[in-house]
Amino acid sequence: MLQYDVVIVGGGPIGLACAIAAQQKGLKYVVVEKGCLVNSIYGYPTNMTFFSTSEKLEIGNIPFVSNNNKPTRAEALEYYRRTAIAHQLNIQLFEPVTKIENKQHVFEITTTKQQYNAQFVIIATGFYDLPFLLNVPGEALPKVVHYYKDPHFYAMQQVLVVGAQNSAIDAALETYRKGAKVTLVIRGSEVGERVKYWVRPDVMNRIAEGAIKVYYNTTVKEILPTEVILQTPDGIETIPNDFVLALTGYQPNLQFLEDAGVTLSNDAIKKPTYNENTHETNVPNLFLAGVICGGMDTHSLFIENSRVHATAIIETIVGRLTLAH
Ligand SMILES: Cc1cc2nc3c(=O)[nH]c(=O)nc-3n(C[C@H](O)[C@H](O)[C@H](O)COP(=O)(O)OP(=O)(O)OC[C@H]3O[C@@H](n4cnc5c(N)ncnc54)[C@H](O)[C@@H]3O)c2cc1C
Repeated sequence: MLQYDVVIVGGGPIGLACAIAAQQKGLKYVVVEKGCLVNSIYGYPTNMTFFSTSEKLEIGNIPFVSNNNKPTRAEALEYYRRTAIAHQLNIQLFEPVTKIENKQHVFEITTTKQQYNAQFVIIATGFYDLPFLLNVPGEALPKVVHYYKDPHFYAMQQVLVVGAQNSAIDAALETYRKGAKVTLVIRGSEVGERVKYWVRPDVMNRIAEGAIKVYYNTTVKEILPTEVILQTPDGIETIPNDFVLALTGYQPNLQFLEDAGVTLSNDAIKKPTYNENTHETNVPNLFLAGVICGGMDTHSLFIENSRVHATAIIETIVGRLTLAH
């Protein structure tokens, strides 16, 4: 079995930040990532632009030079890839972690390929794995997607975009500009307040001029092969439809944490139990890093304010290893 000081679960920006910090301190570490490098960012829409400026996405104090005021997904992929390769970070890709077991002073980490032993584990699994479902009949039809990639596919098609935040609004504007006939369905009474400040006026103007049709205070009732049925404030409405982009947000895999023994708060946030200074959970020597720390509150932790978790955790681990020797 492979022996490590620390196994880092998740090769997103924060998992990589932990790897750099571990490497700098001379720890024997490995990052185990279920998909490709920075898998979540790879899954973002092809033309996506970050809301953060590039220096706020930097890890390990390595400069992120962008040609744009706000970096693009492609630039971020380039940055994290170059960082991982240039630092020769020890990363296993396409290897989902399936189980973390605490076997008295040592963790056994099981993946789809092998098993690792480690004294410490850091879970940095993010929140992009599970989309919030509409839970309506027809959601399993192939014309419904919960991850949007590229607008060209939807040219000349009747597209229903469900959601009011950045993912939905970006997709609505992009597909409209590539020739889709776009209808937005928003459960509340307005376009989300968190929508990027330079994007919100754009969508509001498209709605005002009727280029994008919007239904406020409306939910999807059923999806049929060539139509969707909406519950609007004025009653049921059936509209023709080719594709549904259900972009109503994503949630972390909290079951994965519970299976590892981490307890969650009893309220709707389901915040994992951990020490705010060290990021150690209620399971000794098991740490949480990145946006997973927020539980169901996925809007208060980002790359820019969670990259500091890496140094706090690695310093704690180094302190314990020093004491033990
Ligand atoms: C569309 C969009 C735009 C965003 N824009 C910004 C922005 O401008 N600025 C900002 O700071 N933040 C932004 N965020 C949030 C940001 O992307 C996340 O904060 C960031 O990716 C979090 O990094 P992370 O390393 O904690 O998690 P992630 O990047 O999600 O990384 C988690 C990794 O863990 C892997 N993983 C999950 N389960 C397992 C498992 N069982 N075994 C192995 N690996 C596993 C995943 O594949 C993934 O690669 C945005 C998010 C979205 C969705």
